[in-house]
Amino acid sequence: MAVTLETDLSRVLGAKTAKAMAESLDLRTVRDLLRHYPRRYARRGEIARLDDLQVGDRVTVLAQVRKVTSRRMRNRPGTLTEVTVGDGAGQMQLVFFNRKFGKLEEGSWGLFAGTVGEYRNSKQFAHPDFHLITGDDDEDWARALIPIYPASKDVSSWVIQKSVKLLLDATGGFGFVEDPLPEDLRSRHGLLSLAAALLDVHRPTSAEDVERAQDRLKWDEALTLQLVLAARRRAAALEPGTARPRRSGGLLDAVDAALPFSLTEGQREVGEELAAELSRDQPMHRLLQGEVGSGKTVVALRAMAQVVDAGGQAALLAPTEVLAAQHARSISAMLGPLARAGELDGDPAGTKVVLLTGSLKAAPRRAARAAVADGSAGIVVGTHALLQQGVEFADLGLVVVDEQHRFGVEQRDALRAKGERPPHVLVMTATPIPRTVAMTVYGDLETSVLRQLPSGRGGVASSVVPVADKPTWLDRAWERLREEVAAGRQAYVVCPRIGDDETGDDETDAPDDADGAPGDAKGGDDDRRPPLAVLDVARALDEGALAGLRLAVLHGRMTPEAKEATMRAFAAREVDVLVATTVVEVGVDVPNATVMVVMDADRFGVSQLHQLRGRVARGRHRGLCLLVTEARETTSTGQRLAAVAGTSDGFELARLDLETRREGDVLGAAQSGRRSGIRMLSLLEDEELIAAARTEATALLATDRGLADHPGLAMEVAALATDERAEYLEKA
Ligand code: ADP
Ligand code: MG
Repeated sequence: MAVTLETDLSRVLGAKTAKAMAESLDLRTVRDLLRHYPRRYARRGEIARLDDLQVGDRVTVLAQVRKVTSRRMRNRPGTLTEVTVGDGAGQMQLVFFNRKFGKLEEGSWGLFAGTVGEYRNSKQFAHPDFHLITGDDDEDWARALIPIYPASKDVSSWVIQKSVKLLLDATGGFGFVEDPLPEDLRSRHGLLSLAAALLDVHRPTSAEDVERAQDRLKWDEALTLQLVLAARRRAAALEPGTARPRRSGGLLDAVDAALPFSLTEGQREVGEELAAELSRDQPMHRLLQGEVGSGKTVVALRAMAQVVDAGGQAALLAPTEVLAAQHARSISAMLGPLARAGELDGDPAGTKVVLLTGSLKAAPRRAARAAVADGSAGIVVGTHALLQQGVEFADLGLVVVDEQHRFGVEQRDALRAKGERPPHVLVMTATPIPRTVAMTVYGDLETSVLRQLPSGRGGVASSVVPVADKPTWLDRAWERLREEVAAGRQAYVVCPRIGDDETGDDETDAPDDADGAPGDAKGGDDDRRPPLAVLDVARALDEGALAGLRLAVLHGRMTPEAKEATMRAFAAREVDVLVATTVVEVGVDVPNATVMVVMDADRFGVSQLHQLRGRVARGRHRGLCLLVTEARETTSTGQRLAAVAGTSDGFELARLDLETRREGDVLGAAQSGRRSGIRMLSLLEDEELIAAARTEATALLATDRGLADHPGLAMEVAALATDERAEYLEKA
């Protein structure tokens, strides 16, 4: 039978198996099956390692049933069945409650998969899944390593293993598999051929086989992804944009003159970089990373001023209305009369700064849109309302996206499409992005980093307040807060939830925020009480620990006017303590606020906590951030919080964040699963490989012939690039 990677599985496996595979695992072609890699491998002798295993570890052992005993349980109804299994190197006990055992006969071999538990201080393996090996399986289970595949109820790991075997037998090895990787690249990096790697990953004889095979298969993924991104960068570089060169005597000079501080060296350097790129007629695509408080806004404002000076418009996109309003306010304040061109007291040399958010009433919205459309508004600040249809720019020259982690690529692209020619784009993020993520998710952007904080900052000290372990510490926390207020400072108390809602939904809603750690609020752990709510906490504090202080609440369901008024009052020091949801997470800038108490801190992601505490690291005074949690210090959650408290290195925390999440979450929903082409590659562990692939990809595309000599690779790239779920990669 002539088999290719595109051959339908039904031709190899028969209709029934093929149907089950297609329906439950979305495996349809030979390629799909071969790219469905084992999750791990079971091996004989594994039981001997059980002592090294920790409670909670997942294991699969290959072992023989030695003894089965059943007895009635003493303390509750039902029977307890204990099964002793052994693998020659050791033995272990399996426990089942109320299970009928036709099948588990002594002497039979099987795969037992489950989670290591604990009962009365000894390790226990309760209710493992198992697959008993029958005579037909002989040859396969005799192998040293048994692949364990991602499986479904209808298609077990075992069936997948047998299907691969069938395919192997039918084709006489995987000789039909052509290798998309160029020969010289393979030899440069010492990579197996694809056929050999597939054989080894599915039917390894040693752990080294597996490792070498994985290394090769990761290359496929990394290189394809990097080629798509490199192609996108090249395409962007060829797009005709509009040069917005610097002009003196305009807004930019005015901004510089109005700055109450001198720029840090980093701000100056990045500023020069941006100024040069804006002066070119290729659109800029740049990611600006900078710690919370590193002063990204002023860098952006200067770029915007340059564009306005060159006759274009600049749009600043913020993730929340609070932040958009704050930006508009501070930009207007900084520009003074230059922000009011056309008004009586305005400077005719200036421009108009308009705020355009979803909650604007009809009349002001119409006015704002008109100013955007006729070009009189040089600087437009807004939320995603800016993306709505009907908002037309006269000449959009620069789009600045603040705090990118709240924005999808689609939104970025939607804004970019608002210009007649593609505008320059600057994406700013305070969430430090691990290098690997920058190389993949943001791989189409060039990056700049602001490492230095403006001097004279007090920084922030953090500690965990573990109320379960140390109940009195919470009182002490409120005392500290009162002391700060007594010294003239202000404070935030942050809660995960608003509290006036029946739906129970909260504001930790950015996809990026759910940290997916076990036991996370989103994990559907029903035993936990609902997260603390702003309204409840505010009431309790007002009557209790913080009685006498001026408290206000801030959350996403307040009207924009109310939010705005509250923020103003807080900024004007008319409020001592702001009890809020994560609406204060990004960008809110009140340097006099020095304490933040985060309630139920375990319900927030690592990056989010880091963002949050950035709010109290903005002034001359040293900030204090207290992470209140019921999580025990010894649990992984407790340790995660301790890590956050223990370091202020955003990059280290970003890495920790990555560790606690799955790759798919990092890449975004659309990026998870096999469609993204990322199955084996780990953003955490494969940094070097990804970097090497990026270099190779850039080099491959830099030649005149591009991928013309590598049709296999071109096909892989095309497959990934045209996949609708990888759409983001394609939009140029
Ligand atoms: P972020 O990078 O978090 O967006 P901001 O741009 O909001 O930081 O800046 C944080 C604060 O630091 C603001 O109050 C800003 O005015 C101030 N700031 C920015 N640059 C400097 C500087 N070079 N020297 C002193 N203060 C600065
Ligand atoms: Mg900011």
